[in-house]
Amino acid sequence: MELGNMLFGTSRGEFSVNRERFEAAFQPLFNIFEEKFPKMHHNLSIYPFYDNHIFIARPYDWGAECDCGYDELEEEWVKEHPSEEDELWIEWCKENDHKLDCRLLRPNFYYYPTGFSLMWYKWPFRDSYCNQKLTNKKLAEMVSDCVRSMEKGDSLYEQT
Ligand SMILES: [Zn+2]
Repeated sequence: MELGNMLFGTSRGEFSVNRERFEAAFQPLFNIFEEKFPKMHHNLSIYPFYDNHIFIARPYDWGAECDCGYDELEEEWVKEHPSEEDELWIEWCKENDHKLDCRLLRPNFYYYPTGFSLMWYKWPFRDSYCNQKLTNKKLAEMVSDCVRSMEKGDSLYEQT
């Protein structure tokens, strides 16, 4: 993990993502985004926020902070407990965590049909992590499905 991401970033997940492999696989989706959102070329992220209930694309959230209350709880706990209580701390961490809808945990890419979710650091697929391992075939199928869903033009929600 990159130090910047570890200290200040939000990209986390079970499996680390091969950047080149995912960049190549997602190229068809990048292409259709360029077609649909030509003004976004010079945006900080390649994607605008997009959700058509097949998938979500979300730019990196540069100002992401915990908004689920966990950080405050953690701060209180740390104040109340001396640092040597490592075992208690591990227990506490097991029982407490950010809520799934915390701003810190929102994925940069999410695929509804399988629940595949992915986060990156600042730029698409940089220091990136996902929640499922995909074969090249599955990866290509998912991207094709996303492209098709955009081509149909039946997105329920678009916001630029
Ligand atoms: Zn949180």
